[in-house]
Amino acid sequence: MSSYEKSIQAFSESINLMPGGVNSPVRAFKSVNTDPIFMESGLGAIIKDIDGNEYIDYVLSWGPLILGHSHPEVVKAIQEQAAKGSSFGAPTLLENELAKLVIDRVPSVEMVRFVSSGTEATMAALRLARGYTGRDIILKFEGSYHGHGDSLLIKAGSGVATLGLPDSPGVPADIAKNTMTVAYNDLDSVKAVFEKFGEQIAAVIVEPVAGNMGVVPPKPGFLEGLRKVTEENGALLIFDEVMTGFRVDYNCAQGYFGIHPDLTCLGKVVGGGLPVGAFAGKREIMEQIAPAGPVYQAGTLSGNPLAMTAGIETLSRLTPETYEYFKKLGDQLEAGFREAATKYNIPHTVNRAGSMIGFFLTNEDVVDFATAKTSDLQLFAEYYRLMAEEGVYLPPSQFEGLFISTAHTEEHIAKTVQAFYTVFAKLAR
Ligand code: PLP
Repeated sequence: MSSYEKSIQAFSESINLMPGGVNSPVRAFKSVNTDPIFMESGLGAIIKDIDGNEYIDYVLSWGPLILGHSHPEVVKAIQEQAAKGSSFGAPTLLENELAKLVIDRVPSVEMVRFVSSGTEATMAALRLARGYTGRDIILKFEGSYHGHGDSLLIKAGSGVATLGLPDSPGVPADIAKNTMTVAYNDLDSVKAVFEKFGEQIAAVIVEPVAGNMGVVPPKPGFLEGLRKVTEENGALLIFDEVMTGFRVDYNCAQGYFGIHPDLTCLGKVVGGGLPVGAFAGKREIMEQIAPAGPVYQAGTLSGNPLAMTAGIETLSRLTPETYEYFKKLGDQLEAGFREAATKYNIPHTVNRAGSMIGFFLTNEDVVDFATAKTSDLQLFAEYYRLMAEEGVYLPPSQFEGLFISTAHTEEHIAKTVQAFYTVFAKLAR
């Protein structure tokens, strides 16, 4: 049995220092009925906790670390930049460089504004969509998480799903009334909402592959349908690619599916593990943002030189071949999971999009939040804890996907598959 003594001790201290002992709810590990594991270091695909236990990491800081932990050249570049200055509050060439990378790589993007988190990106994108269209209503999908902004914390996934909070107290009813939600992948319901409210809808915001109810890819025709119905009704289509951006494919999910939204939100990989988000899109719309236009948005640390450096160093190391490598490892991991689960009669369904992988403990097809919730959460909690014992660090929630980095190898995957066999044998039905 691994010892978690130091983590338990650290949590008993942090619980009195920070609400719930953490700085983001999902880190409290509540949905797997255990105390959080405190981390000390990471190198490549391996992380080490403060008790000295080592794990193959499939969380990767919830997605950003696509090159793995502490990539030597990324670390070196950040160190060099830190020695030159960590923040100026004035433009730097680094912002131009990362902006060019984003514009080159994200098909629909002509201009970009950097912020410091995914939440900031989606909040600003909504304000821009409302300012540009002169309309108030936003349509989102049940179980999709777009950060914790008031307009978007309604029927959200991720930590909100995990904690079972349908909404959050403190979101004014007057704001919530302008957010409508329908089931993911349900184009008929989208059309029905547009028939009734079409002239009041500023934007549809969608994760092009949902990643906050586990991984749920779009059904064929769903994204195409959203593009069409928004265009026909003068509403904007916003792809929230905070998770999928540079993760699902070299040209993001929009490149993979060939659908061009009006606005794109980015986060996670674009900052390579430092705090970066971005909202981006067509020039005509982006030029409504201050100081080019009247829609206000600003940030003291936006475009921060250290964060820009991490983003540049990360994006420039990704190539189309990177995603072929992810597919190969993903195939190996998926096959191993399926075979082990089948052998021991564990209910399972696998959804995948590039290096985003969703292992659900249900036999139902998972196409939306309702079907994701058919997973056996009690079984998941046991599976999570036993996998940690075997040295595999999974997201501590059924409603989050696994991620792979370039530092993962076939050997890591083989070890993980071995752990699936060991754990499922203990959970056999
Ligand atoms: N949008 C999506 C799709 C996300 O997955 C997340 C975070 O997980 C966010 C927005 C919010 O990003 P952040 O946590 O950086 O504020």
